[in-house]
Amino acid sequence: MYNTIKKQELLRWYNLNINKRYMPWRSTNDPYKIWLSEIMLQQTQVKTVIPYYNKWIKKYPTLESVAKSNIDDLLKIWEGLGYYSRCRNFHKSSIKIFQDYNGKIPEDFDQFKELPGVGEYTAGAVLSIAFGKKIPAIDTNILRVMSRILGLKERSKSNLSKIKINMIDYLNTERPGDINQALMDFGAMICKNKDPVCKNCIFQDICKAWEVGDPEGYPAKNKKVAVKKILMSSGILVDDELILIVKKKNGIYREMWQFPSITIKSSIKKNLIKKKFKEEFGIKIKSMKLIGSFNHLLSHRNINVKVFSIEARKTLIESKDFKWIKAKNLNSLPLPNLDKRVFKLFHNYRNDSK
Ligand code: SF4
Repeated sequence: MYNTIKKQELLRWYNLNINKRYMPWRSTNDPYKIWLSEIMLQQTQVKTVIPYYNKWIKKYPTLESVAKSNIDDLLKIWEGLGYYSRCRNFHKSSIKIFQDYNGKIPEDFDQFKELPGVGEYTAGAVLSIAFGKKIPAIDTNILRVMSRILGLKERSKSNLSKIKINMIDYLNTERPGDINQALMDFGAMICKNKDPVCKNCIFQDICKAWEVGDPEGYPAKNKKVAVKKILMSSGILVDDELILIVKKKNGIYREMWQFPSITIKSSIKKNLIKKKFKEEFGIKIKSMKLIGSFNHLLSHRNINVKVFSIEARKTLIESKDFKWIKAKNLNSLPLPNLDKRVFKLFHNYRNDSK
């Protein structure tokens, strides 16, 4: 009974506030679109995702259009959103759905969770919102709200299980998807990480963290992950008007195109870098010049990139992993932001030396 009252209050709050956080995927029941939005939202803010989502849906209105597309085109749309494995896995999943499920997104939790790139949270969110399944979708917002209400400080497996059990009970309603979304929004807007708006909160009378006067202390802060420093030399290899680019076979930029680069342990001399480029890419280097450097920050990496302009001879034979391309055509291929910054330095250098 108590839970029922809280659910009604939460849904009332949700209905009143839903428009304060505009999200285009909230106005659809299409499981494909809901799933896409959940994938794009992983580690990414809503305001960043919205233009990417709109552009994607315009070009790929159905899951079938994704399954039939090639990965280069999909990565091109994803370009700049980061965490590119999300895009590769979404593509793989779309193909699998047509191979194994006749093109119909599975409604079964275990089957859906088996798809590449789908974790417990994504499965819970998509199945509860699109198919009304009573499955929790515990994101960082829900984790925070529930930890505070239940007074669970430690980020442990047993506390996560307690939250899940409470959520399953709480989702026992006609609108489990709305409850999941309402709690997520409640965490983002009211029960915030810093300065939660406890005054007039609908859960105040049952909230243990409020009772002990320490809402921000629940749950305990995550331990900071050390940022790894990486030194990298990136080279724009030029033969007259053509530039060499390489398709990555592994790593975070797999399936994307990058300028040839080498990773080095510590600062090394230009001659050794030249030698390494020659060994790695088998190209005759005429001359090379350091044209600039920058730091590129990723979530757990700080990459110091030194950029070289390298005059080379086009001895390397083109293959599906190497391409000599005119600079003006670079835009047609998916390039990570790091390489866009490399190219900007090169472009400015070329313009200055004209
Ligand atoms: S009382 Fe404060 S800490 Fe507790 S749920 Fe409400 S906003 Fe969160």
